[in-house]
Amino acid sequence: MSHSVRITRADKPFAPQMPRASHFINGSHVEPTGSVTFEVVDPARGRTLLSIRLGGAQDVNDAAVAARSALPTWSSKTPQERSELLLAIADSIANDKERLGELEALNCGKPRSVVEDDIDSAIDTFRFMAGAGRTGSTIPAGDYLENTTSLILREPVGVIGLITPWNYPLLMGAWKISAALMSGNTVVYKPSEVTPLSSLRLAELAAEILPAGVFNLVLGNGEGVGQALSKHEEIDMVALTGSVRAGMAVASTIASDLKRGHLELGGKAPVVICENADLETAADAVVEAGFWNSGQECGAACRVIVHEAVEAEFTEKLIAKVSNYELAEPEIPGEANLGPMIYRDHYERVMEMLTDAVTRGAEVLLGGEGDDKNGFWIQPTLLKAPTGDPITTTEVFGPVVSIETFTDLSEAVERANAVEYGLTGSVFTNDVSTALRVAKSLNFGSVNVNTHLALPTEMPWSGFKHSGYGRDLSAYALEDFTRTKHVAIQY
Ligand code: NAD
Repeated sequence: MSHSVRITRADKPFAPQMPRASHFINGSHVEPTGSVTFEVVDPARGRTLLSIRLGGAQDVNDAAVAARSALPTWSSKTPQERSELLLAIADSIANDKERLGELEALNCGKPRSVVEDDIDSAIDTFRFMAGAGRTGSTIPAGDYLENTTSLILREPVGVIGLITPWNYPLLMGAWKISAALMSGNTVVYKPSEVTPLSSLRLAELAAEILPAGVFNLVLGNGEGVGQALSKHEEIDMVALTGSVRAGMAVASTIASDLKRGHLELGGKAPVVICENADLETAADAVVEAGFWNSGQECGAACRVIVHEAVEAEFTEKLIAKVSNYELAEPEIPGEANLGPMIYRDHYERVMEMLTDAVTRGAEVLLGGEGDDKNGFWIQPTLLKAPTGDPITTTEVFGPVVSIETFTDLSEAVERANAVEYGLTGSVFTNDVSTALRVAKSLNFGSVNVNTHLALPTEMPWSGFKHSGYGRDLSAYALEDFTRTKHVAIQY
């Protein structure tokens, strides 16, 4: 593949004030004890933004101890008191939107449209959890035995280790931090070492609002801090969003002392397009949800399975729409901009998957080229893929959408389900019975009809199979970060 990719470059990069690159433990900045450093890179240009020192087991211990000692006071606050503090964090993020946005754009190479959506959704999640956490239990108190009244108490789990990925650094943090804190837990948060900037800024903002020790941040990688969190005896539960590989590593570590796990892992979302679908609607959905965040999205509409009778018309529409995208640095305004891959190894992995698919017989309909001279850029790519090709069943996590055809709907559903993942999928049809039948047959935690990536804060986001378990967003997330206690009182 050649290296002749057109990228719109900015005159000068964003230059936001950098947050301090240190842990945040017990209400204060704390320098990491480790000597290993990690370069935080600007993926649009390939230059180093900041060097961070990675933490280790000692830092995790200090943070876990601080979180444990803050737990009794924090968990005995009323929901209203915790709610007001979470609402203050939401306001503080909103007031800091410009700086947070530039940090996120610089660290991820994201276009402004994606950054704005991330920050607005993070604010909305804090506000939602602040409200939803004030509503009561779902099982009514009552007499279920003679002369005995039963109550269900919802208690916090305790100290929670939170581990997040690089694709939506602030937003994935917000999903977990807001639900865990509102439920009365205290947290030790490890953002991805690749994208710590917005989380470091969030820690500074939260420090002005939360009591010391309630929210602690430890910088580090998965093998060091992620594993230390999973092992630490003061951590009661680990919630991770990340790859299947990291999820399995955490699950096996926490199994050794039966900690609770909450895992949101990878995905490979099928988009089943029936013969009677509105093809314009389907193409719009695949364009938006397939290339959002340059396809670095666990629910990306990355695998089209279209009826053979409408394949040509659908593909023509899709090519026309995807052709509007332009690769552009994050400072360049534009609704149809796409950013780079997050770092070199990931760029190389996506390019290798593309090359291998082509070698096996996939046809490039659009794009397919990369450029890693200054940053890690890949063109928006459409592939016509042979049935069963690994590019249609393995998570690519890049701007690559594969198209395959079907003749029989039940066979399409069977193929859609024949992946290790079960996060999200969609079906496009104008027939309500088909819509419901397919939605019920797709083995994914979230199924959309005539849209893709419908993700309201009020509804749960969670996967099946190797996409993990544990619900983010909605009142179900609050449930996941609590434990129930039955108290029976005989009178
Ligand atoms: P990753 O698994 O490499 O890293 C995620 C986090 O886990 C990072 O903080 C990392 O340091 C940590 N980690 C890595 N190995 C670990 C280990 N052995 N023990 C403990 N912690 C460990 O994933 P990534 O590359 O940052 O993110 C991309 C992946 O995340 C994709 O697979 C994507 O589908 C998934 N993701 C899922 C969702 C969802 O809601 N299901 C959302 C976003 C991203």
